[in-house]
Amino acid sequence: MKPANKTHIDYAYELDLVVKPDSRVPLFEREYAAFTGAGVPLFSIGGGYYRYALIDILARFHARRGYYVAETPMIASSLLYQVSGHLDFFRKNMFIFQIEGHDYAIKPMNCPYHILIFLSHLARYRQKVRLPFKIFEAGRVHRYEPSGSLYGLLRVRAFTQDDAHIITREEEATDAIIGVFEEMKLLLEKIFHMDLDPGKVELRLSLSDKSKIGEEFMGTLHEWETAESALEEAAKSIRDKYGFNYYSEEGEAAFYGPKIDVVMRIEESGIEKEWQLGTIQFDFNLPRRFRVYDMVREVYGEDTRVFIIHRALMGSIERFLSVYLDYMKGRLPFTLAPLQFAVIAIKTGGDSDEEISTIARRIHEELVKMGFRSGLLETTKTSLSGEVRRIESTIKPAVTVYIGAREAREGYATVRPFIHSERRRVSKRVPLSGGYAASIVEAVKDLEDGVVELAGYAPRIPGDLSHLL
Ligand code: ZN
Repeated sequence: MKPANKTHIDYAYELDLVVKPDSRVPLFEREYAAFTGAGVPLFSIGGGYYRYALIDILARFHARRGYYVAETPMIASSLLYQVSGHLDFFRKNMFIFQIEGHDYAIKPMNCPYHILIFLSHLARYRQKVRLPFKIFEAGRVHRYEPSGSLYGLLRVRAFTQDDAHIITREEEATDAIIGVFEEMKLLLEKIFHMDLDPGKVELRLSLSDKSKIGEEFMGTLHEWETAESALEEAAKSIRDKYGFNYYSEEGEAAFYGPKIDVVMRIEESGIEKEWQLGTIQFDFNLPRRFRVYDMVREVYGEDTRVFIIHRALMGSIERFLSVYLDYMKGRLPFTLAPLQFAVIAIKTGGDSDEEISTIARRIHEELVKMGFRSGLLETTKTSLSGEVRRIESTIKPAVTVYIGAREAREGYATVRPFIHSERRRVSKRVPLSGGYAASIVEAVKDLEDGVVELAGYAPRIPGDLSHLL
């Protein structure tokens, strides 16, 4: 198969991110999807590492930018979604079930829980709670989508949002929006090595139709005007500072508030597509329903007006992953790649084979001890090019390390990291002095610079993944 024809589903399977839903469970003659249910991705071992590392980075990144970090329950009493209004306007997308005669819902959105947490803080700590109050969660949600619309990781029924809610004073809303845009830019550029070219990225503002406020669009004219002018002011300042254009679509807002979506045009197999990145959405519905306005005025004083903003930088982990895999042809960043190192011992059938083997094994074992995910493969020179091609086209290690006869004799390793900005591997000759693995890690340290800059450290989730090679 030509790489150009691969879809994100092929990449996700080859990288061991997910178990292929339409493959069969051995000895059962049933597909995996028959066990998980349609549209519910079963992340595999590689996918587990990816998710844990990413969520760890996201939590630390947000915490360092003033967000509180939450983790809310997967189910809720239906009362929560009755008060939020979801049972009225989102019911057909919700999974609802009964226990002891009482209705429960599987969480379709994190917002109502975040608002409960905010209210509990206001009640307990009063004015000591500082605004803007920002709360982040890598929140897994479940929503019913018709089976015909499900596709790979792109359209699923179970997904994890990089979700946050910002409760801000009206006059600070513009700064909050600019802050979110900058967070998205940092995350995509530093963690995912994406090039946010102003020629390809635009901001789409979905605004109200002013003549229908109070009918199709809920809330007061004051709320819509202030929110929309905050959005436009933010969009202008983002344009002036970073060069990203924006455009407005009147009448396209949700009934509960205006929003900005960040959209990137990408080309895929010759077809231009829109990739929706971050989103920033005002909400005039939830604060009324949970009486947030009343509580805020009681705590901070009568003239305090706030907005509640929903925002996501990636959208969902699953959907983002699906587009990213296509966009980068299956190349995940070093910190997130299931297999960070593939250590390949190239034997020749000669006297040096034992030494080659010993060095390669030592490097691999040390890497795992240092907290990396590594795989060891011992092969013979005659089969090398086939082996390398197979590994490169499937599991795609972030760094490949070769030890052959020459390397063993002269005391170095050939280290080939994949460089996202150049979209190719480079080759380095790394002298093996002292700790073998330590010199190799030192030589590729810059692959993690972006993660360390944003999260303060790079997660170390080790694994011996030799069986994947
Ligand atoms: Zn929300």
